[in-house]
Amino acid sequence: MEYKTTESQRLRAKEYAQTHKEQVLAYRKWYNKEYAEKRAAYQRSYYANNKTRLHEARRVYGHEWRRKRLLELRAIVFAHYGNKCACPKCPETNHDFFTIDHITKKARDRDKGKRGISLYTQLIRLGFPDDVRLQCINCNWGREKRGKDGICPHML
Ligand SMILES: [Zn+2]
Ligand SMILES: [Zn+2]
Repeated sequence: MEYKTTESQRLRAKEYAQTHKEQVLAYRKWYNKEYAEKRAAYQRSYYANNKTRLHEARRVYGHEWRRKRLLELRAIVFAHYGNKCACPKCPETNHDFFTIDHITKKARDRDKGKRGISLYTQLIRLGFPDDVRLQCINCNWGREKRGKDGICPHML
């Protein structure tokens, strides 16, 4: 036999809901509780069956999040330090070539062991101290190679 919800059935259901508000509410409560338990049980078994995959997803997501955060903070810090290599003769503006150069020993000691997110966070927290500057890795390397005088080979 074919079963159809007729218009009159619908109206009756509506009327019932209106005149039995408490019963309907109680039913909903019961249903939600039942449903919540079933859902939790399902999630538990899903987690158990997909542990490795879920851990991997979380790891990748965490990695992406950190990378995004790093680029955001980096952009803030680099913009403050001029978005350009501090060497007067260097035209470098590409963020991927930049490094934070510590001018004084005090600055070096203060930021010791900090890099990436922790370094950028520190510089922002300190209000962008002027004892560090932006330098491209080329000029940084060149100056280091020259030892004590610290002059960029560009400037010779
Ligand atoms: Zn440079
Ligand atoms: Zn240079």
